[in-house]
Formats: sequence, C-alpha cells, structure tokens
Amino acid sequence: MGAGVVGVTTAYWLARDGHAVTVIDRQPGPALETSFANGGQISASHAEPWANPGTPAKVLSWLGRPDAPLVFRWTRWDPPLWAWGLRFLRNCTAARERHNTSLTLSLALYSRAVLKALRADTGLVYDHRTDGILHVYRDRKEYHHACRAAETMAALGLDRTPCTPAQCAGIEPALAPVAAKLAGGLFSRDDESGDAYLFTVALAALAAGMGVAFRMGLTITGIEAQGQRVRGLATSEGPLAADAYVLALGSFSPLVARSLGLRLPIYPAKGYSITAPVTSPAATPRVSITDDEHKMVFTRLGDNLRAAGTAELAGWDLTPTPVRAQAILRNTKALFPDACDYDRAQPWAGLRPKTPDSVPILGRSPFANLYLNTGHGTLGWTMACGSARIIADLIAGREPDMAIEGLGLGRF
Ligand SMILES: Cc1cc2nc3c(=O)[nH]c(=O)nc-3n(C[C@H](O)[C@H](O)[C@H](O)COP(=O)(O)OP(=O)(O)OC[C@H]3O[C@@H](n4cnc5c(N)ncnc54)[C@H](O)[C@@H]3O)c2cc1C
Repeated sequence: MGAGVVGVTTAYWLARDGHAVTVIDRQPGPALETSFANGGQISASHAEPWANPGTPAKVLSWLGRPDAPLVFRWTRWDPPLWAWGLRFLRNCTAARERHNTSLTLSLALYSRAVLKALRADTGLVYDHRTDGILHVYRDRKEYHHACRAAETMAALGLDRTPCTPAQCAGIEPALAPVAAKLAGGLFSRDDESGDAYLFTVALAALAAGMGVAFRMGLTITGIEAQGQRVRGLATSEGPLAADAYVLALGSFSPLVARSLGLRLPIYPAKGYSITAPVTSPAATPRVSITDDEHKMVFTRLGDNLRAAGTAELAGWDLTPTPVRAQAILRNTKALFPDACDYDRAQPWAGLRPKTPDSVPILGRSPFANLYLNTGHGTLGWTMACGSARIIADLIAGREPDMAIEGLGLGRF
C-alpha cells in the first residue's frame, strides 16, 4: 500500500526475494505526494528528534509568529493533534531524546549504507551528490549545544566534524559571503543528497522490470480483517487480496489503519519547498546545507537548487499558507542571493508523516500478515532503503541486519 519512496523501496526488496508484488497507489505515478519535492538530503546527521528538552520553550517563543519554523495550531478542534501533542511532550526529556536519537541514527546509518550498496549494484541515477552535508549555526549557544550532541552521535557511529566559519566557507565556497554571520558548522562527509522523486520513479521502473505490478489511480478505502489476519483491501475498484500486506501510506496510514481499529500515532507536519533554476553555479552550494536556526535545508539537484523546511501541524490539508511559503523563499535569497532565478521558483507543499518521538513505525502489527513501514517524518528519504530491507527480511523470516527493538508499534 503506497508508491512513495517507502512503498517502492519495499516492493523492490520484496521482488528481489522472489515474491509476487503489487503496489497500489491513488496517484497516477510513483512519488507524487510527500516524496515528490522534499529537501533531498540523505542525512543521518539530522537524527535529533523534534521532541527534546528545549522544544517546548522554543515553540512558546514562536507563538504568534506565522512564519515560525514550527507551528502547532492548538486552537483548532483537533483531538488527534492534541493526543499527538501530549505524546510529543512526554518525549521532551533528555533521556527520551537520547533514546530516540539512538534509534533514528542507527536506522539512518543502516539505510544510508543500503542506499550506497543499491546504487553500486544498479547504477541508478537521481541527481545524487556525495559531497556531504554541512550544518551551519548563527547562534553560539545553539552551536555549542550541537557540538555536544555531535559527540553523542559520534559515539553511535556518525561522523560530524566541527568547523569554524572560515572552514565552513572552505567546504562550501558559496557560503563565503555570509561566513562572518556564522558561529560555526558541523560537517558530515558521508551524508549524501539526491532527488527522491527521480530515485523512486527509477526504482519503480526497475521493480516493474522484475515483475512488480503497479496498480495506480486506485484508492484504498479500508482494510478488512478476519480475526487477527487481514483478509483483503477495499479499494475504489473493488476488493483485492494477498498473502501479506505492507502499510506504507505516509501521512494517510493512520486514516486507513483506523478501519482495522488500529491507532497509529502519526500526524502530518506540513512543510514547504521551492525549486529554483541555478543561474550562477559559483554562488550555489554543491554541498547540501542545513540551516539549523531556520530549520531549512538547501540541496543542489542537477541544474536546480531545492530549499525546504518549516513545519505546520494543522491537519491533512495541503493548501499552502502564503506567509510560510514566502519565508522559504526569503531565507534562501538571504543565504544565496545570486544563485538562482528566484522568479521562476516552483513552490510545493507536502505532509511529513510524523510520530511524536520522530522514530518511524516499523515491523509487525497485531495482525499476523500486516506489516507497518510508515511514520518516517522528516527523514523518509534517508531511512527508506533500510526500512524496506528490514520489512523484506521480516517477511522472508530472516533476522534483519540491524536490531529493530523499539521501532515497532508496541512502544506506544
Ligand atoms: C518540506 C519537506 C522536506 C523534506 N526533506 C527531507 C529530506 O531532506 N530528507 C529526508 O530524508 N526526508 C525529507 N522529508 C520527508 C520525506 O519526504 C518523507 O518522510 C517521505 O517522502 C515519506 O515517504 P512515504 O513513502 O512514507 O510517503 P508518501 O511519499 O506520501 O507516499 C505515500 C503514498 O501513499 C499514497 N496514498 C495515500 N493514501 C492512499 C489511499 N487511501 N489509497 C491509495 N494510495 C494512497 C499516496 O498517493 C502516496 O504516493 C521532507 C518532507 C517535507 C514535506
């Protein structure tokens, strides 16, 4: 269920195991929802969860700012948001932050390795770059906090090198004009970037060549069970049945799972991106950049610059809020004023499938033949390949290559 980057990678690894696989999606092609125009980063270095001891104060200080990096629309009548928000608050302790970082980082590192191996195997081309990711900080306190977090992450296997502003400009010369405003940076050489849409479409074509059937334009309206087994799917074109089912519907997974009485704590966090044609390559970053203060990322994808960020918890509605979309454009112009023809920037909005602890929901479900591969939030592109391999391992009855305790629905 689902032909986003998570569903298609899962179908590919299931096909490699020799299963007969059918992918169902309501869109006319793969990756046309959240996997379409995301920030493009394969960023194990972005594994810190949103919920941490500093977040409640930050969110309060942002109240009333319509262009704030993270906005909760608390005033709406929205019980799923409030229930999600309470769980989020429970995760805002130092101990939970450490635990959630370690789970996310392990999966992100595993997934990055699986993606590299897949690329070597298949030669897939998707405007990818292997120049690393540089996080930049303007605020000294934030930078020192990030350096401490980097030490914890280094202990878990992530390379993150602290850099002075001058070193940041050395790694990415397009930052030279703003280097004086930076407090410092952290560079992850092994992180990567690439176009999730191009990747998913290319992998879907490869999977189709291996016999995977793509039933596009088909809406799943419910899942039917008999006892503790799924019996079939109700779809816009009638019932469909299989031996095993994988739920990978992104932000829409909880809505469809409800038909089984299954409550998945996933809430959509709407984010925005712009994609602008590069007019001055020298003024455009080659290394993917994360601006921690504005919670934004900048990625060179072929002849374009993609800038993405901000989060708005306001339901499943994709209507863009103009002030937030403009904030993306404004911040990009401020950092890279001469890089692109910003008049031709293409705006986009997508719904990140966010869990309260920022860890995806991965593995078995209470139904014997239903597997969950969903809730990847801000890091679905980063974690797709590893998550898919894990699900294929579970379905084949193999022990996954990495420990999966703590990733399942049972933790809620
Ligand atoms: C602004 C922004 C920036 C981001 N930047 C990054 C980044 O730099 N790096 C990173 O790793 N991640 C990033 N992400 C997150 C990443 O894009 C998502 O986690 C990922 O795309 C989720 O993939 P998915 O396959 O789970 O969901 P989706 O791509 O949404 O796929 C779900 C599929 O299910 C289908 N579907 C839904 N409901 C039904 C139904 N009822 N019947 C049939 N089909 C249905 C949809 O059509 C869709 O194709 C970003 C997200 C946003 C919004």
